[in-house]
Amino acid sequence: MAPPKSRKIVIMGFRSVGKSSITIQLVEGQFVDSYDPTIENTFTTKVKHNSQEYVLELVDTAGQDEYSIFPQSYSVGIHGYVLVYAVTSPKSFEVVKVIHEKLLDMSGQDYVPMVLVGNKTDLHMERKVPTENGKSLADSWKAAFFESSAKENSSVHEIFQMVIREIEKRDKDGNVD
Ligand code: GDP
Ligand code: MG
Repeated sequence: MAPPKSRKIVIMGFRSVGKSSITIQLVEGQFVDSYDPTIENTFTTKVKHNSQEYVLELVDTAGQDEYSIFPQSYSVGIHGYVLVYAVTSPKSFEVVKVIHEKLLDMSGQDYVPMVLVGNKTDLHMERKVPTENGKSLADSWKAAFFESSAKENSSVHEIFQMVIREIEKRDKDGNVD
């Protein structure tokens, strides 16, 4: 079998949207109700995609707002991004737009492998961002889009399968390894 490929992915978004919950759901298969929101942590996990094994390094950031300045470590050696907002928080939806713009600026490219995620879909009564809005935003970025619930473990694995797919798509174009 082919040796595993290592890929580094950064999880970004406004505070409290569920970045850590999504990451920990993927890595540990459980929903943690309270996770220190201020710390940045790197998790490693193995996943299979098209019968190729991947070792994913996931940088669960402490969160950004529209004024955040991104460290170099968010662009150098990074293969792909997961940008998370909460469907209950219009503010977090605005913040992912700013993050996206800054990431493109920083990379100096007009495309980076990326998945946009609207999390907390289980909070039906509190939803404020319609699915359509997320979908159109992702389309405008040429990015993939998912709505998820870290709490119900809905679409969490799919998100990371999709980031790998986006990364592979780009690798095929001969841009990076
Ligand atoms: P982060 O700051 O983006 O890392 O957000 P956390 O993962 O720490 O989550 C912030 C809060 O939202 C915590 O109380 C989580 O339990 C909660 N949370 C995260 N994901 C979900 C979800 O899918 N559904 C619900 N109902 N709550 C969630
Ligand atoms: Mg967190």
